[in-house]
Amino acid sequence: MDVMPGELAYRKLSFWHDTVPGSLEPQDPLDGDRSAEVAIAGAGFTGLWTAYYLKKARPDLRVVVCEREIAGFGASGRNGGWCSALFPASLAKLERMAGRDAAVAMYRAMQDTVDEVGRVAAAEGIDCHWAKGGTVHLARSPAQLERAREEVAEARSFGFGQADLRLLNGAEAAELAAAAGVLGATYTPHCAAIHPARLARGLASVLRRRGVAVHEGTPVTEIAPRRLRTPYGTVRAEYVIRATEGYTPQLPGLHRAIVPVYSLMIATEPLPDATWAQIGLAGRPTFGDFRHLIIYGQRTADGRFAFGGRGAPYHFGSAIRPGFDRVPPVFRALRQSLRELFPVLGEVQVTHSWGGPLGVPRDWCASAGLDPSTGLGWAGGYVGDGVATTNLAGRTLADLVLGHRTEITRLPWVGHQSPQWETEPLRWLGANAGLHAMGWADRLEARSGRQSRLGELAGRFLFG
Ligand SMILES: Cc1cc2nc3c(=O)[nH]c(=O)nc-3n(C[C@H](O)[C@H](O)[C@H](O)COP(=O)(O)OP(=O)(O)OC[C@H]3O[C@@H](n4cnc5c(N)ncnc54)[C@H](O)[C@@H]3O)c2cc1C
Repeated sequence: MDVMPGELAYRKLSFWHDTVPGSLEPQDPLDGDRSAEVAIAGAGFTGLWTAYYLKKARPDLRVVVCEREIAGFGASGRNGGWCSALFPASLAKLERMAGRDAAVAMYRAMQDTVDEVGRVAAAEGIDCHWAKGGTVHLARSPAQLERAREEVAEARSFGFGQADLRLLNGAEAAELAAAAGVLGATYTPHCAAIHPARLARGLASVLRRRGVAVHEGTPVTEIAPRRLRTPYGTVRAEYVIRATEGYTPQLPGLHRAIVPVYSLMIATEPLPDATWAQIGLAGRPTFGDFRHLIIYGQRTADGRFAFGGRGAPYHFGSAIRPGFDRVPPVFRALRQSLRELFPVLGEVQVTHSWGGPLGVPRDWCASAGLDPSTGLGWAGGYVGDGVATTNLAGRTLADLVLGHRTEITRLPWVGHQSPQWETEPLRWLGANAGLHAMGWADRLEARSGRQSRLGELAGRFLFG
């Protein structure tokens, strides 16, 4: 048996892992064959929520989760902590796929999901530092303001009103987040800031208490109908669920199903109250802006900035390595972006820097589904919007496994099949060209102040 990484290595994964209570030693690796009603590969939010809702509905079900590392090892433990109603496919795209009512139903379901996560965390005693302060998206150039207006116009055209998304003028925006050069913003109340590793580890503990077998340190080598194979034994089950998101291409036969794209983050030292008084973000709204190469941030419960963005390269062959989590030029750029946003930060110390792979499907549309003939289920492709969406996925998969036809099993992402990604080297060329184009577009806009369609076009061409 390979020697597994332990507590110390896992603590270094991110600020969140460093500060999550409890042991991070892998628990209870599989030690022989098992049988169950449901077997799940992956103990991120997708796998954990699926097990949670199955066990809640049917306490007698035998549910086994196999996780290669520890629960919350992947994106679920490392993210920006935006538990938001964002869904990676736009309303217009969902309308093209499934009609207007279905598009609206999907977005309304996402709004409910944000509250569901908060409700379960409270009910189960998981202190994930939940603060539902909404999201403020800043516009800091005329081009960004134009995009803010377009976003509000699209929301209105689908019947979403002021209570869902508001356009703020410069003064209103600065009251929420006193960033430099703010011309306006959008504000939505549908987001909570959380400590993601606390939620992931808390859920894993709840599952164990309820009798779910969560086998950490257990890599799945093959997912097949009625069978999930590991080096330490095979789990036979009527239903087998894939919940491996960005790591999916490592599984046999799934190399082109999803592309792992790295998102990187930094956390600062805790800031004095006097600094926060100048910055704002009271009530802990999450924040970003309207550039193409997205940035995202939150004020943590202990008074730091946790701040992230894309921009790390896609690696040939969808490779995933621990070394890819840390890209010094991207960390420097993040630090600079944060200081540009809030110059009052000055030479603030960055205490943590990390990253991880998220999963991007070819058409940028997340999906969840179950093939009743094989018993194989899946959920994923959330791009950067999985913190809440995984909860909806877990409830949906539980309903599908239990044969319940419900409002959520009729949502347009259920059963959606994204096309395969191109073979290499096209995938590498396309993904990295797209990332560069978005960066160029942002620089052009910063210089000219006018909208550059380059980033958007690159995004559309590459990601559907
Ligand atoms: C830096 C970063 C910031 C982000 N910020 C946000 C945000 O603020 N808001 C938001 O909504 N989304 C955000 N996301 C995306 C979000 O975190 C993910 O969409 C979500 O956590 C996906 O959950 P998951 O359970 O599907 O995947 P993961 O959390 O990646 O879990 C997959 C699990 O499967 C395990 N696994 C993989 N292969 C195997 C195998 N062969 N055998 C056994 N186990 C296996 C992995 O170890 C891992 O634990 C961010 C992602 C990153 C990386």
